[in-house]
Amino acid sequence: MKESMIIIGGGVAGLTAAAMLANDGHQVTVLEQSREWGGCAGKFSRKKFLFPVGATLGMGFEEGGIHERIFNHLHIPMQELPVQKLEEVMNIHLPNKTITFHRDRNEHVESLVRAFPEHKQKIMRFYQKLYEIAAKVRALMVELPVLPPQTRNEWLGLLHSLNVSSLTLLPYFPKTVGHLLKKFDLLNTPFKHFIDGQLIDSMQVKSEQCACILGCLALDIYHEGAFYVEGGLYQVAHRLADHAKGNGGVLMLGRKAERMVRTGNKWTVTDHRGNDYRADHVISSLPVQVLPDLLSETDLRSLGYTLRKKTAEETWRTMTLYLTLKETDTIMNMPLFQQICTSESGEMSEGNHIFMSLSNGTDRVRAPEGYRTMTVSTHIDLSYWKAKEEYDKRKIFMQEKMIAAILSVYPDFKEAVEQVECGAPKAWERYTGRPGGMVGGFGQSRNNSLFFSLSHRTKLPNFWLCGDSIFPGAGTIGVSVGAYHVYSSITGKKLSQ
Ligand SMILES: Cc1cc2nc3c(=O)[nH]c(=O)nc-3n(C[C@H](O)[C@H](O)[C@H](O)COP(=O)(O)OP(=O)(O)OC[C@H]3O[C@@H](n4cnc5c(N)ncnc54)[C@H](O)[C@@H]3O)c2cc1C
Repeated sequence: MKESMIIIGGGVAGLTAAAMLANDGHQVTVLEQSREWGGCAGKFSRKKFLFPVGATLGMGFEEGGIHERIFNHLHIPMQELPVQKLEEVMNIHLPNKTITFHRDRNEHVESLVRAFPEHKQKIMRFYQKLYEIAAKVRALMVELPVLPPQTRNEWLGLLHSLNVSSLTLLPYFPKTVGHLLKKFDLLNTPFKHFIDGQLIDSMQVKSEQCACILGCLALDIYHEGAFYVEGGLYQVAHRLADHAKGNGGVLMLGRKAERMVRTGNKWTVTDHRGNDYRADHVISSLPVQVLPDLLSETDLRSLGYTLRKKTAEETWRTMTLYLTLKETDTIMNMPLFQQICTSESGEMSEGNHIFMSLSNGTDRVRAPEGYRTMTVSTHIDLSYWKAKEEYDKRKIFMQEKMIAAILSVYPDFKEAVEQVECGAPKAWERYTGRPGGMVGGFGQSRNNSLFFSLSHRTKLPNFWLCGDSIFPGAGTIGVSVGAYHVYSSITGKKLSQ
């Protein structure tokens, strides 16, 4: 019998679950508190300009990638998605050197060897091992196993994914990427800063904390395909929302879920206007830190110790700048994606490491002819921002620091800047409903990842979780996998390979 579902949150996770469940004939209602679909991968507009809120670099659109597999499953034509595969994924600027991240693995290693000739052999051996581990992990992930396995079927699914070569991964489970760097004598080198810059953006931790198996996958993933999406990644959210609506889903913007009450196995969700929505299942795509506000005390206690403990754990915040730029020579010659690390000692937060995404010169969705838009982000730690006065000062300080980082690489940059808008943690909290503006899920350390990550299942009947706090974690590809696990657990159906 087809069932009813309430999905809280209209980001990529919630909309992936909505589209897949509606496609299967279930009665789907999505409540999204903001006025836009896409959440952290959404957009906002200012006059003729459009800005991606946070996520900009697309992955998973290649053949066999998770977005491609889900779109195929839903019969959404991939050709409709305006994506452009990047052969040069990004430029990474360390103090005194610039490295181009090439999609081709050989070219990539050559580029690193050119940047660090004194470590040539070590870097080559490091990547040989890293690519070997990543290939085995990718093979394991094809069937999208669930971690941590909670049911007989999930254990069977995991065992089914294993083969002889995956057993050779066992020694790497207790290791970090830092261990791998140490093995190749690369730990105390600027090359480590390059690796840390990649990891902090994708895994939210540096090499000394990052779980080796997932870290290798993250450091390899752009070689499978990294994409510029015309307009921005919100296009994915919009396609999924349209598909869910086309299959009878009721999708509502401007509806903040404030309370969830269980009567037996049925749920009632109440929004901020006092409207009640009843359903057989509830799927929350929000960070788990929201759960204490949504659930009754009894239900919160029933979630169990591990999940309850996580609801009190802090994650990174972000500070973002949204720039309107004139198309000067400097801008025309800039790569679309760049990282700048300004710290000699390899600090990766508070403006010492920034990620910049520029709109393509032909992208008329983001800016009119002669202009571009740019989103710049850095990780921040709220302990520096506690009091109101400190917060306002810190915001100005951080904006100046981020612009100074860009000027350190592009001294003429200021000539291009027409407007700067700032997205500090309070703005993130307001627009994405994330408590304290926490973003990116839990850092993928050994304590938070793989068998220690949070399952999409909860101990409450018919209450499911997806989003970047849940296995396998952040990024539009990570949250899509989590949403698929919810779909598959409810329906018993699988994605074709
Ligand atoms: C600055 C930044 C840069 C990033 N860059 C990239 C990148 O380049 N590539 C990439 O793949 N990933 C990137 N990411 C990560 C990626 O954006 C996220 O992991 C992913 O989009 C999270 O999706 P989600 O659906 O889990 O959560 P969200 O996107 O946060 O969606 C949750 C939705 O729920 C809504 N909501 C919240 N509370 C309520 C409520 N009570 N009731 C109803 N609705 C509610 C929110 O408004 C939001 O729309 C980036 C993230 C950030 C912050």
